[in-house]
Amino acid sequence: MENKDIVKCLRDSQNKMMEIMSELRYALRCAPEHVQNRAMGYWVAQIETALSNNHEWLGGCMTSLSDTIRELGGTEEECISCGELSYNVSYDNDDGPLCKDCY
Ligand SMILES: [Zn+2]
Repeated sequence: MENKDIVKCLRDSQNKMMEIMSELRYALRCAPEHVQNRAMGYWVAQIETALSNNHEWLGGCMTSLSDTIRELGGTEEECISCGELSYNVSYDNDDGPLCKDCY
């Protein structure tokens, strides 16, 4: 497998994992507040900072999945909707890359 194929696989998986995180966040909104706060402050933050450098949390992961994509030669792609440059783009549509805020 060449680096570009690894990058594609990592990007696809990154997008799937971020979709799963959205589902988990949605479900957690119905949990009691103290349970929700603990989850958000620990494992949700840890997973999201490990997946990408583009997140809402303070600090980050020493090496995120986005960093690994960059190390393998993956480049930042420009979102066709808002123009933001990001390592974390989706190619689920036929028009071109979309950033996480636009897909
Ligand atoms: Zn965008």
